[in-house]
Amino acid sequence: VAQEGLDVAECSYVIRYEFVSNEIGTVQSRGRARASQSKCFLITEALSLNYQRETDNRLKEEDMKQAITEWREKGIEAFQTLVRKEQADLLKNLSTNGPQPTALGASQPTNETAKTIHCRFCDTFLCKGSSLRLQGTTVVCCDQAFEKLANPPKSAGEKIVCPNRTCHRELGAVILLSRNVPGYALQISSLKFFIGSETLPRLFKKWSQYQGYMQSL
Ligand SMILES: [Zn+2]
Repeated sequence: VAQEGLDVAECSYVIRYEFVSNEIGTVQSRGRARASQSKCFLITEALSLNYQRETDNRLKEEDMKQAITEWREKGIEAFQTLVRKEQADLLKNLSTNGPQPTALGASQPTNETAKTIHCRFCDTFLCKGSSLRLQGTTVVCCDQAFEKLANPPKSAGEKIVCPNRTCHRELGAVILLSRNVPGYALQISSLKFFIGSETLPRLFKKWSQYQGYMQSL
């Protein structure tokens, strides 16, 4: 059983069983396998919290690789200039506002919080933006009205589908919150957001692009 720091030259397989930390942990654990063409596996339930975290971690790793490639092309001077600017901005923010949360969404209700959220495929109303909560980095809908409307399943990993019978597209999956209360993890690619008084819906690719307020559970 090994995570960081242990190098086993002959190791060609890493098998993790229900163990996911952050994106650094995902990269670190894969790095335990030093042999060429080594492989890394995660054993977990489909669509479980660990499954979603691992998927998030891999996306973040892809983002990191892309950023490294982009900055290599831009050159060291542009990179240093940006780092200095970011540092200056961070220090300025810290001295005026105190530490800022780095979680998804806004830290307090803003006019970027969606009034209503609808099925992207058929426009059916699903829930209010104020019903969204954060379980770690997973966005869940916590709303009895949504339960009544969509009648979602209650076991972890089961699919949630659009309540409109002629649509019935997949909206996300059930995850278990504390005390085994079901939470409805909605996938943003199935949703459209009406924000403020805007008449056109907004679409997002990733939850990190949505700037509305979501209270942490
Ligand atoms: Zn629908």
